[in-house]
Amino acid sequence: MGIVEIKGVRKHYKNFDFEMDFTLEESSILSILGPSGSGKSTLLRLLCGIERPDEGRIVLSGVDITDEPIQKRGISMVFQDFALFTSMNVIRNVEYGMKGRGRERRAKAKEYLKLVDLEGYEKRNVSSLSGGEAQRVQLARAIASSPRLLLLDEPLSALDAPMRKKLRSSILSIHQATGIPMIYVTHDREEAFAISDRIIIIKDGKIAATGSAESLYRRPDSLFSAFFLGDGTALPARLIYHDREGSIFFRPEEATIFEGPIDSSAYSEHIILNGAKVISCEFNGSGYMLGMEYMGYPMLVLSPLKPRRSEVGIMLFKANLHYFP
Ligand code: ADP
Repeated sequence: MGIVEIKGVRKHYKNFDFEMDFTLEESSILSILGPSGSGKSTLLRLLCGIERPDEGRIVLSGVDITDEPIQKRGISMVFQDFALFTSMNVIRNVEYGMKGRGRERRAKAKEYLKLVDLEGYEKRNVSSLSGGEAQRVQLARAIASSPRLLLLDEPLSALDAPMRKKLRSSILSIHQATGIPMIYVTHDREEAFAISDRIIIIKDGKIAATGSAESLYRRPDSLFSAFFLGDGTALPARLIYHDREGSIFFRPEEATIFEGPIDSSAYSEHIILNGAKVISCEFNGSGYMLGMEYMGYPMLVLSPLKPRRSEVGIMLFKANLHYFP
């Protein structure tokens, strides 16, 4: 049985229709990835009970919570801004909402602080913490009440890059230690890739695609998902297949460049595009990202070597091309 079931949930706003159906498996991390305005916050508000659906049911561990008030749902939430009680020190923040009392509770709270790498921070004043530390306290506090589900609403967006990595690993160790299922909401694909077992891409209040990071990236099922998950090139399919409408898509690393024209009759498994122009060349650590042009269409190709000529041939492995009618 799935731990969280969103069954035919609908919510209608004036210019927005939200419609969702999915199941989150037990003790997994699901990312909800979508551009701004796609309905991510609407989903969170429906899940935690700030908002009621017009239709459909929300079921948590087999219990229908659609009509339950917020505080009875057993759901904790971590927000992007550092929502802590500034009048309490670190350990009191973590203890807040925990069951039990006294020494036992304190010992448990200390364990949670250890899980997020904040041993020794117990007595620290919340206002003296860095953004990353405050977020880790928020995380410890969120799981201290033993929720049945943890919602994370862009928890890294107010942090700088090294802090983000640190917090990401705190989230993963907490998940490993507790098994609490998590729904992680973000507009950042790298975060979604790094953190989740499964990703749901939403667009205009509906599911656009769902799958693992690898499958969504390597086998996108629409141009929207393809571009939302990473760089790539879309060309009119007729440039390549002549008799087909629609588009073909490939990732920069799925193309190979050759200096000089390629004899297409020698490669039956490949598509050859001769006469592509190199417009720009940027080194990005893993290679040279080439901005190119082919018959007036822009292309992006990742090459391990810097091309010496401005006109090159491009080879695409047919099996790697994604065709969208
Ligand atoms: P996201 O979190 O992905 O940026 P939201 O869920 O906040 O997206 O918003 C999705 C859409 O729903 C937006 O077009 C927004 O204007 C609309 N919306 C959200 N809440 C309300 C509301 N209370 N009343 C009217 N429209 C709303």
